[in-house]
Amino acid sequence: MNCLFCKIARGEIPAARLYEDDQVVAFSDLNPQAPVHVLIVPRIHLDSLLALDDPALALAMLNAAKTVAREKGIDETGFRLLTNVGEDGGQSVPHLHWHLLGGRRMEWPPG
Ligand code: 5GP
Ligand code: ZN
Repeated sequence: MNCLFCKIARGEIPAARLYEDDQVVAFSDLNPQAPVHVLIVPRIHLDSLLALDDPALALAMLNAAKTVAREKGIDETGFRLLTNVGEDGGQSVPHLHWHLLGGRRMEWPPG
């Protein structure tokens, strides 16, 4: 399958990997929107959050986000964890990913 994040997860395209386990890979976003901007993806291909129905995988992704937040030192200062879904959500890569953003004050509402 010609999917960018599948290829990154398999190591076929380089990325700055920060965390991995048997289900999940986390790597720095190529175009960071904050001092810390990490993407957390499942190793298996899922188009978006709408395709996620495995509770163990859902928890593994959230735990990976918490682990990276602690390792990056933004657990105390705070962070934002989000996933864009579909066109109105602003999803540009059709492989489920959480954005972990921190290291600066986030705004609300988002743009
Ligand atoms: P989305 O817009 O789908 O929510 O997020 C996709 C994210 O993937 C964007 O923040 C974009 O900067 C990031 N991205 C796109 N291509 C690459 C790439 O080749 N490597 C990495 N590390 N990030 C990428
Ligand atoms: Zn994929």
